[in-house]
Amino acid sequence: MSPTTPPVLIVGAGFAGAAAALRLSEHGIRSVVLEAQDRIGGRVQTVQLPGGYSIDFGASNVHGYQRAENPARRLAEKVGVELHVPKPEGGLVFGTDGKLLSREQVAEIQAEIAKILAEREPEQGEDISLGKRVIEQLQSTSPEAEALARTAEIGAGIPLEHISARYWKTERGFAGVDALPVGGYREIIDKALKKSEAEVKLNTEIEHVEQTESGVKLRTVAGETYEASHVILTVPVAVLQTGRIAFQPALPWARTDLLERVSVGSLDKFSLLYSTVWWPSQVANFVLLPSSSSEISPKSSVTDILESTTIMVANMHALSPQKPPVLLVYLPTKAAGEMEKFSDADATRPIHDYVVSRLAVVAEAEVTAPIEGRMVRWKADRFALGATTSPFAIGKDAKPDDLDELGRPLWDGKLGFAGEGTDRHLRGSVVGAVASGEREAERLANLLNGR
Ligand SMILES: Cc1cc2nc3c(=O)[nH]c(=O)nc-3n(C[C@H](O)[C@H](O)[C@H](O)COP(=O)(O)OP(=O)(O)OC[C@H]3O[C@@H](n4cnc5c(N)ncnc54)[C@H](O)[C@@H]3O)c2cc1C
Repeated sequence: MSPTTPPVLIVGAGFAGAAAALRLSEHGIRSVVLEAQDRIGGRVQTVQLPGGYSIDFGASNVHGYQRAENPARRLAEKVGVELHVPKPEGGLVFGTDGKLLSREQVAEIQAEIAKILAEREPEQGEDISLGKRVIEQLQSTSPEAEALARTAEIGAGIPLEHISARYWKTERGFAGVDALPVGGYREIIDKALKKSEAEVKLNTEIEHVEQTESGVKLRTVAGETYEASHVILTVPVAVLQTGRIAFQPALPWARTDLLERVSVGSLDKFSLLYSTVWWPSQVANFVLLPSSSSEISPKSSVTDILESTTIMVANMHALSPQKPPVLLVYLPTKAAGEMEKFSDADATRPIHDYVVSRLAVVAEAEVTAPIEGRMVRWKADRFALGATTSPFAIGKDAKPDDLDELGRPLWDGKLGFAGEGTDRHLRGSVVGAVASGEREAERLANLLNGR
């Protein structure tokens, strides 16, 4: 690396930023990572619970681990973080009447849902929502079918009624076997940043990005400035949508228009830590179908929210190599939004009571009160403002290529964009964040080293 080479600035110390820094360093290019928060990780947040257990409240799984070319897997291997592939028993589904569904019943309904979801909408004519298609077609099947179909909302982040049926699953992402980083996801980012030898500046929120004669100039909310020949911006799409980061010259209309069309979804996880495991210890997860048909509203109590939602409760004892006595309650879209209003202390007891009321029939030991309950509020997080970009939404005139467009550099290549929301096929995942960071680093390496 030449001491005269101006460093590249990277805004954001999440997976995209860390992957970009490491790839740049492999090309001998120094970078400085500017991070608004007092921690690295972004939408990866590994929390140490009492007892020393690490729980990921943001991303937790490396999706599509079985494929050796998976960018997230490759990055973990490169920095020496072991990945654990859990082998639990399958999940259990509790019906709308509270009774446990048989595995045959669940398999039958899931096959029906999979068939409907796999249908392709014609490219021409009016698009319909996935909700309309699924719910209309499932009406003649069991009352559990629609509720079970809503498990798709956990990953999607938006209600089925908002998802375009035309573009559903047109992405070529990494699916299949899930693996968990031993000790938590954050360690991969931590080690990648250390290996890159990038200077990481925490508590450095960027509010202004300007094109200069020789490159770019960034200003923080505290008034500090940073200059470099190039910058890679990895902040979430939802943050860009707020307009809190000003650009000079302003972003072209086509880019801001594109930004408005992209949807960002919600997902939160609420952890319940116990002294002992009282639920079936080897079962991967428990799906609780709603026992009430009431709509969630701002007046809903914690119990109302839970009763009206299809909820997945992950058994971390069976999934994590640390075997923590932890149930992780996944709160999708509408439930996440409303639940964020309650404090951890206020939500813990009603969530525990609800989970117990549904799982009591399969309890294998005496139920104990939780030691603590905890949630990370992604929608309220000023630097995330939601979980991830969602599948293409209906009524927003969005097209699959929009996300790739959001990843296109501007200002003659001086202003680059990375992050999960800049890759059509890999959006919404760590894999996408890593791939986008590496993509931008490669682009800059070609530019800078080719000079
Ligand atoms: C609850 C939940 C569960 C998930 N589960 C999975 C999973 O199991 N597997 C999976 O693959 N993916 C999962 N994801 C998605 C995954 O977490 C994200 O796709 C990925 O972490 C995004 O990385 P990123 O680098 O693009 O963005 P981020 O991680 O959001 O990084 C962007 C960084 O920019 C910083 N920033 C924002 N504004 C500014 C500013 N003005 N100045 C400076 N810095 C700024 C932020 O603080 C942040 O650190 C999950 C997400 C959530 C929320």
